[in-house]
Amino acid sequence: RAIPPRKLVLPELGLSSKQLAVLANVRDDLVFKSAKELDESTRNSATVLTPALIELVCEELNLNVEFSPQTLPLLQDNQLSKDPLHPRMPVVTVMGHVDHGKTSLLDALRKSDVADHEVGGITQNVAAFRVPIDGNNREEAHSKFATFIDTPGHAAFKSMRANGTIATDLVVLVVAADDGVMPQTVEAGNLARAANVPVIVAINKCDMPGADPERVRYQLLESLGINTEQLGGDVQCVDISAKNGTNLPQLLEAISLQAEMLDLKSDPSARGAGICLESRLDRAFGSVATVVVRSGILKPGQHVVFQSPKALRGDLFGRIRSLVDRNGTQLDVVEPGVAAGLIGLRDPIPPGAEFCVEVNEKAARAKSQEMLARNVEATVTIELANSLCAEREEK
Ligand code: GDP
Ligand code: MG
Repeated sequence: RAIPPRKLVLPELGLSSKQLAVLANVRDDLVFKSAKELDESTRNSATVLTPALIELVCEELNLNVEFSPQTLPLLQDNQLSKDPLHPRMPVVTVMGHVDHGKTSLLDALRKSDVADHEVGGITQNVAAFRVPIDGNNREEAHSKFATFIDTPGHAAFKSMRANGTIATDLVVLVVAADDGVMPQTVEAGNLARAANVPVIVAINKCDMPGADPERVRYQLLESLGINTEQLGGDVQCVDISAKNGTNLPQLLEAISLQAEMLDLKSDPSARGAGICLESRLDRAFGSVATVVVRSGILKPGQHVVFQSPKALRGDLFGRIRSLVDRNGTQLDVVEPGVAAGLIGLRDPIPPGAEFCVEVNEKAARAKSQEMLARNVEATVTIELANSLCAEREEK
């Protein structure tokens, strides 16, 4: 009779295939090979695996795995109310190969940021901005907007994933018309697909002499299965020049259309919750965390607690002193789909940390302490794995 597989109790977050191998007492290369096959973004044996991937790997190796709860389901108790849902802004991330013009595109778009023309702000420290997307005048009170994440690239995209939720609604995939589809283009396209986030293609540098947008569209179809409208597919694709500002209104229109199709809704009466994109230190304001609200609303004076998969810490909580836009203007309320700089926590918040609003300081502290206890347990297991890894290497 077959021996039933040994049950492994693992922390959900922070384990690499090397660490998993020692804890499971199997060969490193077996675990890595399996992880790599299941998810090609697994670079090496030190790459941290997601809980979902750990489960798949363990299944393949016939290991019985159970996760010790390490994170609190912050967002789960957001019971939807019976109030009508409100439409909300889309959150957009720009991705693509290096030098294809991500930063240039963001620079060009930022020029239409509502707040950016004013002076004396904390522009450098809030990593998101808002752009009107319906072609209306920027002063128009009912103009539709999109939130753009100001740090392009894969790391930013990944940091917006926490516990299976992602704070990006759509990706603008920038491809240079003269260079075409490159490795990071493919990587970005695959990341977006894996996260189920729709893509709009911006073929950039169309002002260049060697520009061949048509060739890029065929490359996208071949290497990523991205079938653009020009080739009869349903992926919107706009030929732009970030340098000259060509067709940027058309790109914004495409974003507006895609957002409408997604029919993004939010429940302002739900508990306030969201994700931290990054945090920076500001001379005047101290720690400024750029947060994106996913549900409910944020207001100054509320108590919030953050939970970070990276720092394995549970003591990130505090009272919101103020919420600001890039210009340093105080915001009375921050709604879903909107990013803001959150000021009031003493310590920097790691990217990817989730937060939720608690009723008072006592509740925030209690939740934070529970997280800390769970993380201590995880840290012990990870330290054990590290010492086992060191032993293995000595042999
Ligand atoms: P990133 O690495 O994707 O952020 O790319 P950058 O925005 O830094 O751009 C890389 C280079 O391409 C810079 O020298 C830009 O000036 C140039 N560039 C960006 N957009 C355009 C464009 O639309 N036309 C031309 N001709 N050059 C561009
Ligand atoms: Mg750049």
